[in-house]
Amino acid sequence: MKKTVLFCILLILSICCGKKNNITNQNNKLQVYTTIYPLYFFSKEIGGEKASVVQIMPTGADPHGFEPSAKTVAKIINSNLFIFNGLGIEPWANGVISNFNKEKNHFVNASSFVEKIKKGNSFDPHIWLDLENAIKIAKGIKEAYIKTDSKNKEYYEKNCEKLVEKLKTLDEKFKKQLKTVKSKNIVTAHAAFGYLAKRYGLNQIPIAGIDSHSEPSAAHMVKLVKFIKENNIKVIFVEPATSKKLAKVIAKEANVETMVLNPLGTLTADEVKANKNYLSVMEENLQTLIKGLNK
Ligand SMILES: [Zn+2]
Repeated sequence: MKKTVLFCILLILSICCGKKNNITNQNNKLQVYTTIYPLYFFSKEIGGEKASVVQIMPTGADPHGFEPSAKTVAKIINSNLFIFNGLGIEPWANGVISNFNKEKNHFVNASSFVEKIKKGNSFDPHIWLDLENAIKIAKGIKEAYIKTDSKNKEYYEKNCEKLVEKLKTLDEKFKKQLKTVKSKNIVTAHAAFGYLAKRYGLNQIPIAGIDSHSEPSAAHMVKLVKFIKENNIKVIFVEPATSKKLAKVIAKEANVETMVLNPLGTLTADEVKANKNYLSVMEENLQTLIKGLNK
């Protein structure tokens, strides 16, 4: 009798553990969950055909203030690898990780690989708009893949190398081409470009704060219009997904034009349809900056 009970327990354990230890699902792919678009893109490039990568934040969504459903949280807990940005853009992520089994669930906090910018009491989360950071994050994601699925180490290393090569080329282009622009002042819809500005020698003047939901005060708006006029600024950079209302009001008041600079938290449906990706949008951002800052 005792032997039978013990056998049953062992059988249950072996089924449970066996299922958990088997790192791939029925498609024979790693299940990878990512929050914002850039992390999805890096994870997909590195994971290639070995991984099934899901972006949790929906297309066109404002990543600030997004909350996943209970069903999505359950899927993350059952995944092999969870990759998030950190720095307050996914305040719910810590709760998810606390439910992880340390032996079986792997996760990546992308912000752990980069030097952070502090804004008041919080950190600026927009680390992915600096290409040197993007390279560090890509390498961190590669290490997590290897830790999760070591038998395919070489495959992940090769894919990561290819991605890093492209990121490096773009980084050098940013450095070279932004050095010679006429104006270094970028007025942006929300404070998404702090890391980009710091890396490439620009000065960001944001309309709204690091959280795109925060509305600027009337006094801040008046100061902005004054700054734009005094510094002979010609362009206000707006975003494709979020409301352009405030920026347009200021542009009209200061008599300047608007151009689209993409903070890349998520891609819009149109951008996905047009096969745009992190690299092509960053290239577009560079061309927009050059055009806007040389006016
Ligand atoms: Zn933002």
